[in-house]
Amino acid sequence: MPTFNLELVTPARVLFEGEVQSLRAPGVEGSLGLMAGHAPLLTELKIGLIKIDLPNGAQEFVSCSGGFMEVTRQKTIILADSAEMAADIDVERARKALQTAEVALGSSEETNVADLKLQIERAKNRINVAQMRV
Ligand code: ATP
Repeated sequence: MPTFNLELVTPARVLFEGEVQSLRAPGVEGSLGLMAGHAPLLTELKIGLIKIDLPNGAQEFVSCSGGFMEVTRQKTIILADSAEMAADIDVERARKALQTAEVALGSSEETNVADLKLQIERAKNRINVAQMRV
């Protein structure tokens, strides 16, 4: 099966770089599947799961907190706001972040509702993706 080059980066680091067989990413307008030869594309990503199929048949699961994905003829670049490989997710930290945000959201003085809802979504996503580690 033909492969294509994927670069998955965050502002802090390169998370993945190499040949992949296919990938699935959380586009803002729905889940996007990519294989070699896909038409050029630029899309925004939301909080969700990035699933990478490697040429050797293995899979990588990555939590994505939003960002952009650009598909060109040469390569696919994902620039994520933040992202973690499933194996690197600190589940306890995500649980604490979830709890803190839920408590804050319940407080009557809290005005930053949109940010708190995003924090909750990020934490739940990390907890879900962490469960996919092999
Ligand atoms: P927290 O409140 O726990 O910091 P957050 O959603 O505010 O969570 P981000 O701003 O998205 O965190 O990310 C800040 C940095 O911390 C990024 O490098 C991100 O990859 C990392 N990070 C956040 N949560 C986790 C986690 N549960 N496990 C591993 N890395 C994490």
